[in-house]
Amino acid sequence: MERLSDIGEIKRILGAHGFTFSKAMGQNFLINPSVCPRMAQLCGADDKTGVLEIGPGIGVLTNELCKIAKKVVSVELDTRLLPVLAETLDEFGNFKVINADVMKLDLNKVIEEEFEGMDVVVCANLPYYITSPIIMKLLEDKLPIKALTVMVQKEAADRLCAKVGSRESGAVTVAVNYYSEAEKLFSVSRGSFMPAPNVDSAVIRLNVADKPRVDVKDEKLFFKMIKSAFAQRRKTISNSITSGLGISKDDLNNACEKAGVSPTARAEALTLEELGNLSNAIYDIK
Ligand code: SAM
Repeated sequence: MERLSDIGEIKRILGAHGFTFSKAMGQNFLINPSVCPRMAQLCGADDKTGVLEIGPGIGVLTNELCKIAKKVVSVELDTRLLPVLAETLDEFGNFKVINADVMKLDLNKVIEEEFEGMDVVVCANLPYYITSPIIMKLLEDKLPIKALTVMVQKEAADRLCAKVGSRESGAVTVAVNYYSEAEKLFSVSRGSFMPAPNVDSAVIRLNVADKPRVDVKDEKLFFKMIKSAFAQRRKTISNSITSGLGISKDDLNNACEKAGVSPTARAEALTLEELGNLSNAIYDIK
């Protein structure tokens, strides 16, 4: 639909379908006409690429993606939006909507069934109430995707794109850096959405690495260690990790020595390699 980026047209469609926004489902729809074409251009899609979108809303971004990608599959939780999408995207034969909660979907199966033989990217304006869980699911499920280009709240963008080993980093920064390289693409003001949220947003791209960017012997242990280390980020790793993993101070000190890391360091001061080495040293000692 050509005029989908026009606020008057968006209001007309929503009114015609009697649609009311759900805060619980994180529904802030894009109304700034310049944002969606830019996101679609930067997500890495072309006529040989399949795009997985999460939360199409009324299809403003979907519309731009359908123009350039080979196929677009969008996962939408809100059943009320299905008739809206049928109207706004009716001109496209390369679009499919799956009415489901993305957190409960087997996305590897979706990709296998829908995008056979295609390179796949994710592009989405994510519902803010589950930004990190969705990103972590997309990465942890080890999907065959090249990149994730997503709109998130500005604060989340800063944390996701922070350097591991900097004050801004958190457990999610380490996790994202383990699987991908994160870059901030551009900022989007709160006035670009309807209804306008209380915070500004940013579009980021996570370029997914072929394999994890650091070798760890036990991923479960690595992520458990990261979680405990950052849950009490003001404490030394000696205190936070021993209590989080239930290991003795002696074992932790030995592991730190083996990994070349100071037990009095704080988690936010350690690099990805140091964190990987430490979890491997703990694995060897346990
Ligand atoms: N892409 C649209 C846009 O930019 O205008 C809408 C973005 S809005 C921030 C988030 C969308 O995600 C909504 O359409 C909402 O219904 C949908 N959503 C919320 N939770 C979801 C979930 N668990 N699974 C799939 N879609 C979800």
